[in-house]
Amino acid sequence: MDKSKRKTGIIIISITLLLTLSLWILSKNSISEITSWPILSVNQIAALLGTVLFVWSMILATRLDFLENWFGSLDKVYVVHRRVSEIGAVLILLHPIALALDDLQKGLKYFLPIHANNSINLGIYSFWIFVVAILLTIFIRKINLPYHIWKQTHKFLNLAMILALLHVIMIKSDTSAFLPLGIWMYAFVGLGVASGLYMSFLYKYLGPRYDYQIVSIERYDDIHDIYMKPLKKKLPHDLAQFAYVAFQSEGLSKESHPYCVTSLPEDELIRFSIKEIGDYTKQLGKVEVGDKASVWGAYGRLGQRFEKGDEDAVFIAGGIGIAPFLSMFKKAGLEDKKRHTNLFYCTKFKKEAVFGSELSKLLDVSANLYYHNQCSREPDGCHLTAAQVIKEIKDIKNTVVYLCGPSKMMKGMKKDLMKNGFRRNNIVLEDFEMI
Ligand SMILES: Cc1cc2nc3c(=O)[nH]c(=O)nc-3n(C[C@H](O)[C@H](O)[C@H](O)COP(=O)(O)OP(=O)(O)OC[C@H]3O[C@@H](n4cnc5c(N)ncnc54)[C@H](O)[C@@H]3O)c2cc1C
Repeated sequence: MDKSKRKTGIIIISITLLLTLSLWILSKNSISEITSWPILSVNQIAALLGTVLFVWSMILATRLDFLENWFGSLDKVYVVHRRVSEIGAVLILLHPIALALDDLQKGLKYFLPIHANNSINLGIYSFWIFVVAILLTIFIRKINLPYHIWKQTHKFLNLAMILALLHVIMIKSDTSAFLPLGIWMYAFVGLGVASGLYMSFLYKYLGPRYDYQIVSIERYDDIHDIYMKPLKKKLPHDLAQFAYVAFQSEGLSKESHPYCVTSLPEDELIRFSIKEIGDYTKQLGKVEVGDKASVWGAYGRLGQRFEKGDEDAVFIAGGIGIAPFLSMFKKAGLEDKKRHTNLFYCTKFKKEAVFGSELSKLLDVSANLYYHNQCSREPDGCHLTAAQVIKEIKDIKNTVVYLCGPSKMMKGMKKDLMKNGFRRNNIVLEDFEMI
């Protein structure tokens, strides 16, 4: 991923925070107004900056094209979405805490919706919805909350945003007293509300949706290899991008999940290779030939640098992390660039490398491809190390490593590669876990 792109997004978010801070300072008659009432000042600025960050978290969830240009790829956009939500939550939490500290005797009342002034109650309702949604996001794995239920709870953030907007509009504060700050905050929160409503209700219809029909399915243990033909327009996509897919099959929920496109962009049929992981994917046995599917996309930039550049490449896949490399390895075999491409398919056992024979066949097409199945649990097996990778390549400086697999494996591998001389810029990751 191009790191400068990620910086563009962070700079834009920072500018909106600085602008908010500057307008808030300008709303004061003098600096002493801020310094004489430090707790009140913390309360105000925490509320404003926390709100701006929450609006960003709603904008970042819209999957709009420009976000990938600003942050690098959609999985990275979701990483930033999570970070800004967490920082926003801390700031929003500070808002009533600072009020309570300022007025210790009545402190608790700032957390309870018991005020005669309804604009304050709206803010308190909004605060609690934010807190619960954020806590669920932080602890989703610890309490084993199924992803689709968490997703429903996350929709309540739209309600929290609307309540926050009403709170900001109705309450007597610097925002209402100083017009430029007021206009900025109302417009920005309005953008947050619009983003939330778009994702919750309109994306399904107005998003980049393509209709498909399943023409064949191959099943290997817990992996479903699904081929589909377009019913009207074909999904335009680049190499190894991913899309959100909702199968319309009997007895299967209509929810959409992200999967890599494992066919090539020029192929007539689109292919998805899906492993059973949780509640939803374990039901994919119900999907049959002839069923229809909606596909939204395409997203992600994992294959972009590989397609544009000619540096040697190393693909490291953990389990179903092989998905993006099914098309990238094939592409490497078909292209006439002279680079070397090594693919390490990491599985626990040999029999789990279900795409092994398909990938090995590509070695007949090009002498520049090298395939390795690294098994961690076979009698002579171990986890892949950077030293093994280095043994297979010509030049660390001219080799880009593409990694896709479980987060823990990717983190460990990245660290090991960097310790052994790979530059951070030459390691490209795709994360299958967006939360
Ligand atoms: C960019 C990307 C590309 C992916 N490509 C593939 C692929 O080619 N093949 C494949 O088998 N799997 C792929 N996955 C993983 C796949 O999306 C999950 O395994 C699947 O959604 C699990 O759903 P579940 O309900 O069965 O499991 P759950 O147990 O509910 O979810 C397991 C984990 O999957 C993720 N997840 C679940 N639902 C969603 C969702 N709607 N949106 C985003 N993340 C979700 C969450 O991190 C969750 O913790 C990809 C994921 C991402 C983010």
